[in-house]
Amino acid sequence: MNDDIKTFEVNSANLGKVQVLHRACPLCGRDNSDEPDNAYSYDVWTLKDCPTCDLTYIDKGPDYAKLFEELSWETTTKVEEKRRADLRPVGYKASKLTRLRMHILPRKQMNLMLDAWAKPGNVIDAGCGDGGQMVNLTPGFVPFGVEVSTELAHAANDRFAKMGGACVNAPTLAGLQSFPDGYFSAATLRSYLEHEMNPLPVLREIYRVLQPGGVAIVKVPNYGSINRMVMGEKWCGFRYPDHLNYFTPKTLKKMAVKAGFGVHYGLTYTLPTSDNMYAILRREDGPSRLPKVRGSRGCC
Ligand SMILES: [Zn+2]
Repeated sequence: MNDDIKTFEVNSANLGKVQVLHRACPLCGRDNSDEPDNAYSYDVWTLKDCPTCDLTYIDKGPDYAKLFEELSWETTTKVEEKRRADLRPVGYKASKLTRLRMHILPRKQMNLMLDAWAKPGNVIDAGCGDGGQMVNLTPGFVPFGVEVSTELAHAANDRFAKMGGACVNAPTLAGLQSFPDGYFSAATLRSYLEHEMNPLPVLREIYRVLQPGGVAIVKVPNYGSINRMVMGEKWCGFRYPDHLNYFTPKTLKKMAVKAGFGVHYGLTYTLPTSDNMYAILRREDGPSRLPKVRGSRGCC
């Protein structure tokens, strides 16, 4: 799909020679080549702060088809672990311990968020991996997924088929295009959108495959978090170049609105003390499920 766009090679310190594509701002389309680099740029992976829309992003991305071949999550995670460890070993260990402690605290579960926000029906998980996180859905929700890794897609398909669903083995955009309009009552994008080379086209496609009133539940690292400001270049949300898009609540909302969605943030969805944030994107051209309000008795 990027046949008309030229790839070029970079020689990165962490990954060696990699074929990449130049990226204009994935939110507004502005070419920010002449803008100064963001201070968090690392090696050949230059971050840009778009002066038009405020999105922060890496201005080049691995050739789409090779993303999961050459730059697997595991590979870059190891590279990132080392990079941060080299920066300041003591601080690194402390932050790792802190995160370990935070992981013990309850986290938002997608199945509970679906119960709260979505109507029962087909649910599509973008980048579903082996499908392990979609097996505890409340009865009435049927899991579907798109996954680019063939091995993981097969595992997910085996799981989903038992519940009446399926997994498509394809890059996300192409996988979504294989479904008819309005096929899903909900979509889940867990730790996915920050990796996506073309996040706006994907969101538009999600909008199309959702029923009117359907919702997409999004979880991404929060570039506006206090932890990012405190940890600086050692923040866990930085992963070069796996994480291409660095959203704040504002820029995520701008992109979702551009894709046609209404955007809702729950009270605890964008806590600046959390590394991640959550958003509910709603296709508002139909009846929607209102949030449950605990403790209130719907009285006239
Ligand atoms: Zn922009």
